[in-house]
Amino acid sequence: MEKRDYYEVLGVAKNSTQAEIKSAYRKLAMKYHPDRNPDNKEAEEKFKEAAEAYEVLSDETKRKQYDQYGHAASNMGGGNGFEGFQNMDDIFSHFGDIFGDIFGGGRQQSRRKPQPVAKRGHDLVKELSISLEEAFSGTKKDLTYYHFVSCSACHGKGTTEEKNIEVCPKCRGTGEMHYRQGIFVYSQSCSDCSGQGFIIKNPCSTCKGQSRVQKYDTLSISIPKGIFDGAELRVTEKGDAGIYGGKSGDLIIAIHVMPHKQFKRHEDTIECTVTVTYPQLVFGAQIEITNIDGTQEALKIPKGCPVGERLTIKGKGFHKIRGKGRGDLIATITCNIPKKLSQEAEATLRNYAEQIGAEVEDTSSGTIAGFFKRFLG
Ligand SMILES: [Zn+2]
Ligand SMILES: [Zn+2]
Repeated sequence: MEKRDYYEVLGVAKNSTQAEIKSAYRKLAMKYHPDRNPDNKEAEEKFKEAAEAYEVLSDETKRKQYDQYGHAASNMGGGNGFEGFQNMDDIFSHFGDIFGDIFGGGRQQSRRKPQPVAKRGHDLVKELSISLEEAFSGTKKDLTYYHFVSCSACHGKGTTEEKNIEVCPKCRGTGEMHYRQGIFVYSQSCSDCSGQGFIIKNPCSTCKGQSRVQKYDTLSISIPKGIFDGAELRVTEKGDAGIYGGKSGDLIIAIHVMPHKQFKRHEDTIECTVTVTYPQLVFGAQIEITNIDGTQEALKIPKGCPVGERLTIKGKGFHKIRGKGRGDLIATITCNIPKKLSQEAEATLRNYAEQIGAEVEDTSSGTIAGFFKRFLG
């Protein structure tokens, strides 16, 4: 079929103003509006034809091209061509504002009745602080938290009867309202239905139609041994319940491992400081030290061990969170300097100082700091 001239379609003169074009289009759009002409194919075609003509003539660039080349302009490419509207919804999404004040926001949607749409619930993040001991040995913790759960009274439907769900009359199911300000048209979520497009007339009294309710829950969580500070444990579907039967979100537990007074962690290695006596450093010793979990570990102090030496006990560190085995326990050696000595011990030590020619303070109260200053730096 030969395409009709756009000016002819709208019934306007070639030199008509934008206001005249718009006014002409509005008249035709109202006349052939599908809400006024249900199931009328001819009216639908006229409605589309008018929209296409308006699309071109209301745009000065497209209008100029059309004035020069006629319908051939749409085949010239370059992005300025116009193919016509494929379906009615395109027209309403394009020119909804034209109908705004006539039909109250576009057109009643005939595609489908707006229904509650199932939406997945949010993931929740909860922080959980544990001690370094707990990270070392693993633990069980009870986490109490608020989250949404599916309403059991309405089985997450928001109402006990589906017939209670109606298309929102204010936005006609679109979920949004269009407003005009000067040449701009802006849309805003419909306040009556919160942008959902439907309204529940007799909502479930338990959840007020929200399909879910808040609940204070307690969850027992197993924390694996070897867990790191900053690790996140994901508990599937323990977050917020979905809306209208949607899947629940996850609960993410952000682990914070608190610092320890004696032990420090580096990767899977655990480090501590072990204090021994001067004779033990000189002669060497086989001692036992207490690990972070209270177990006793054998530690060999080598003969002539300097202060600050880092001694490794293999396989007594953190359990590897991935893979098998354990890291190491590293003991940094320091020397215990006694503040007080027995008379016998002092005499022995002074005797030793004399033998090696070490000058020490000669106070009867027995300060021996000078001795150690010289030897231990
Ligand atoms: Zn609404
Ligand atoms: Zn309910």
